[in-house]
Amino acid sequence: MPLTDTILILDFGSQFSHLIARRIRELGIYCELLACNVKISDVKFKPKGIILSGGPYSVYEEGSPHVDPAVWDLKVPVLGICYGLQEIAHTMGGKVQRCDKREYGKAEIDIVSPSRLFAGLSHPTVWMSHGDSLSAAPAGFTVVAKTSSSPFVAVENEEKKIYGIQFHPEVTHTPEGTMLIKNFVAGICGIKSGGWSMNSFIDTEIERIRTIVGPTAEVIGAVSGGVDSTVAAKLLNLAIGDRFHAIMVDNGVMRLRECEEASVELREKLGINLTVVDAADLFLGKLKGVTDPEKKRKIIGNTFIEIFEAEAAKLEADVEKKGRKIEFLLQGTLYPDVIESVSFKGPSATIKTHHNVGGLLANMKLKLIEPLRELFKDEVRALGELLKIDANLIWRHPFPGPGIAIRVLGEVTPEQVRIAREADYIYIEEIKKAGLYRKISQAYAALLPVKAVGVMGDHRTYEQVIALRAVETTDFMTADWFEFPYDVLKKISSRIINEVKGVNRCVYDISSKPPATIEWE
Ligand code: GLN
Repeated sequence: MPLTDTILILDFGSQFSHLIARRIRELGIYCELLACNVKISDVKFKPKGIILSGGPYSVYEEGSPHVDPAVWDLKVPVLGICYGLQEIAHTMGGKVQRCDKREYGKAEIDIVSPSRLFAGLSHPTVWMSHGDSLSAAPAGFTVVAKTSSSPFVAVENEEKKIYGIQFHPEVTHTPEGTMLIKNFVAGICGIKSGGWSMNSFIDTEIERIRTIVGPTAEVIGAVSGGVDSTVAAKLLNLAIGDRFHAIMVDNGVMRLRECEEASVELREKLGINLTVVDAADLFLGKLKGVTDPEKKRKIIGNTFIEIFEAEAAKLEADVEKKGRKIEFLLQGTLYPDVIESVSFKGPSATIKTHHNVGGLLANMKLKLIEPLRELFKDEVRALGELLKIDANLIWRHPFPGPGIAIRVLGEVTPEQVRIAREADYIYIEEIKKAGLYRKISQAYAALLPVKAVGVMGDHRTYEQVIALRAVETTDFMTADWFEFPYDVLKKISSRIINEVKGVNRCVYDISSKPPATIEWE
């Protein structure tokens, strides 16, 4: 439950809903996004203001979603965006219908009446994405803005503090969108910007964890060396010390030195009670002879769960000897996962579990604890910095669970893993030296299952090929290949071919996503 002034966003399923939350959080103001039809009596906090998001439906259609009428009894300011505006109009006696001219993309608005929502805005460009529009405003509402094709682009009832806009202020294509959102949350709802920060989050979250876990229960959780699990583990460590047990499984397909470096960071620098299970041989044994990417993923996923469960059972026996019990499982769930599961049209009502630990939860009767479930990735990174976690770890590129195994195309043998790891290590090292690591969203070296002819020192060679991949993306749904300076590529290629035994050729992958994917397997 939030302890701070909160904006409630009711999500009608727009693809931009999470951006509304992003923009508000960037102002240092806390907000939560819930399904549009949530019952207000089930909401555990009293919001200082409500935003109704856009959505793919048409308000006048049968079966279209509507808010709980109790929203209007809260007597707090309400801002409707697109479908949200149409919901306001539909509910309050205005008229919404299919428009003759649908508007997608940029539009220029004309502000026709002064409004607190538009205070200080001077740029007329906004972003539209709608096929329905208002043909009449509800009684008591003033028209604040128009475009050449929509007479009701912004309407408001200042007395009731209800505002509606047809465009999307949350997208960057609306240049002054953030200012409008600020006018609403800070100006109209009266929340002070900056009240929500990662500094205040640390203290309240530690208190919250202590309350949930209580004075004696113990907690287990998997850590990978990535930012989410490390930050989550550090919070647990600060809250309950050694009653939190972190488990890191070395599956033999992590990056070169990653397991050792991460365990030094977690155990020695961050003081986390960590057990490292060396299961490399077991994983590699099971991967022998397997070439199908999906099978590789399954084997690694299932073996991970097996080992984690076995380790958890051992820990449980130890803990029981002290007369205590492991009662919780830590998960590094982030807010985008939560949003995906609460959104009106979201694919599932349950939160994704990272390592598919559903069985574990049921068998050991564990309860989930998710300290990051209110945070976006950049907030987790900011938190990591405040918790003094090493910058290399905080800014590490995403790394898939099956790791190098899906970057060795074809069969995963210890020798192939060695080649892929060494090449990857050099690649990343050179990227960092060139100061490009943070510009690139994800980079790795893949080992191709083909041999090529080459010549080294007058000898004919017949060896393998390394494919370098580097992409830029904000959401990992679409991605462009990164435009390296040639001299950096040259250095990388020559180092890999010279230093990694078994490689005589290096190629750079120039495919975007889609149609390619970021990983090769
Ligand atoms: N479906 C509604 C329309 O087309 C609302 C669209 C939206 O919220 N982006 O007008």
